[in-house]
Amino acid sequence: MRTLTKTQETLIISRSYAIPELPEVETIKNQINEILPLKVISCTQSSVISSIAHTPIDLSNRKIIKVHRKGKLLYFELDKNEFLLSHLGMTGGWRIGKERPSDKIGLKHNHLCIKHSKGYLSYIDPRRFGHMYQLSESETQDKLAELGHDLRSKEFSIEYLTETIKKYPNRQIKVHLLDQSLYAGTGNYIVNEICARAFVRPTRRNKSLTLTEIKKMHSACKVVLDGATQTGGTTFQGGYADTTGSAGGGVGHLVVFYQKICQLCGETPVKKIFLAQRGTYYCPKCQK
Ligand SMILES: [Zn+2]
Repeated sequence: MRTLTKTQETLIISRSYAIPELPEVETIKNQINEILPLKVISCTQSSVISSIAHTPIDLSNRKIIKVHRKGKLLYFELDKNEFLLSHLGMTGGWRIGKERPSDKIGLKHNHLCIKHSKGYLSYIDPRRFGHMYQLSESETQDKLAELGHDLRSKEFSIEYLTETIKKYPNRQIKVHLLDQSLYAGTGNYIVNEICARAFVRPTRRNKSLTLTEIKKMHSACKVVLDGATQTGGTTFQGGYADTTGSAGGGVGHLVVFYQKICQLCGETPVKKIFLAQRGTYYCPKCQK
């Protein structure tokens, strides 16, 4: 974990959950792929799995070959051309272990528990806002097509970002960037940080952005995603954990989100407002 800078010691820790965004889901995906492929010996489900699973889930004696990601959606490739889709919602997560998860969260909120020859792969979700589907290949493709280009894909280019921003001239940029049908994988902390690192105020209308600013946003996107992914995702109090149950170290990379002092200029108090009911942070000095 990267150590916090001196001014970051004043970090205000959120009491609310931070929803897993692209770097967190990417971390989980990479960790699960380390134990794949695997053959399922048995699969047990909680009595309330139906509040998460939109289709019957039947994995007994099946093979899980690989897990992929588009935006915040994980999709496990199974044998017989089927897929298990998993969206973590607010508090969902996957755990890997030799035993079933035995901590407080795992004991109470383990909704799917896959036993394989080396141990267990378990889905836990205290608030049950996650979603799960077991679908055919074509149904899976339809679900993936509902999402815009993944922020990590080559299709998410400067040209694509420019074109999609121009298409909605009156939207505020921060709210616009949260649109999953255009940009798969964004979330509240990511877009706050992208605006900050591009020196763009989140309240700006799309039509006011210059091409130079859009280019800066595109490169800021990579900086924000790389920083958070390389530190294993970003954890706030009570929020995301990786497949070992550990917190990520991404808070060390934040420059405005939940910060008292802007980490770009190191001196200006960060302003907090609400846009579309979401906490929005910016530096009044750095972001024009
Ligand atoms: Zn600043």
